[in-house]
Amino acid sequence: MENQQSQRIRSAVFDWLNSINYQYPDRVIPSSVLTNDCIINGERIILSGAQGIWKPRQLQYPISIKSVADSIYQDAQLDNNLIHYKYRGTDPNLYVNVGLRECMHQRIPLVYLHQVSKGKYLVEWPVFIVADDPKNLTFTVEANSNQISLSSEPNITEEPDEMQRRYATRQMIQRLHQGTFRERVLEAYREHCAICRLKHRQLLDAAHIIEDSKGGKPVVQNGLSLCKIHHAAFDNNIIGITPDYQIQVREDILQEIDGPMLKHGIQEMHGNKLILPRSANLKPKQEWLEERYEVFKKLNLELIIQI
Ligand SMILES: [Zn+2]
Repeated sequence: MENQQSQRIRSAVFDWLNSINYQYPDRVIPSSVLTNDCIINGERIILSGAQGIWKPRQLQYPISIKSVADSIYQDAQLDNNLIHYKYRGTDPNLYVNVGLRECMHQRIPLVYLHQVSKGKYLVEWPVFIVADDPKNLTFTVEANSNQISLSSEPNITEEPDEMQRRYATRQMIQRLHQGTFRERVLEAYREHCAICRLKHRQLLDAAHIIEDSKGGKPVVQNGLSLCKIHHAAFDNNIIGITPDYQIQVREDILQEIDGPMLKHGIQEMHGNKLILPRSANLKPKQEWLEERYEVFKKLNLELIIQI
């Protein structure tokens, strides 16, 4: 069994994560916060190590496992419903691998760190190790919809059933994929709206040029960093973007008379150039913009005829 002191610290770590959650609503946390800011009983607990499976010296067993989005040295493989996590090295009896196996046997909650950019992690908690496959040198990780409570009770008493756990895991994998896309797009645009320059990450989205459902890829060239208003305007063809990065406002909207949001926020954007990432290979793919612009153009033409 995990000793009591270690259990108490682990529980306090989850309380601390819950307490900072409001500062990071999208659960993207700088690595400096994870390595410096978790202070329990006056002691710093480091939550992120140099390598994938991490055990702070104050704990008996590991606290976190880490993966890197799209790394060639992938620690984790995200399937539709399952996360396969690689052992450290090839020795099943290496201490961190043994530690993680103990976390599985004792149902000890862990923190999942998914690196989305240099120095930033998408953080999920709690996760559990539910299976061990020494032949393939992997563990299976599952999410759990039960929040670790803020009380001092470290163990989860009521187990969610298998369906709930699968569902929670699928949602976690989706969050990791979407969060990775969002973070990369926002970073490419230096956390500005590509239309109005607004710089508040809580008000920014990573919009798809070609939607997911239409086969759009989750790559930066298929993304635009847009504020909530401009994202909705783009999705609803109120605003169109030409393949050569010019902003167009739909004809009927241009003629409308309304308050300052319409005037300054939308109408005045007409004809402006899109604000683009500095790096050429991160700019929106013109072919995809063109495909999307065709829809806008068709709708706009129909409206012009009506007007
Ligand atoms: Zn905007």
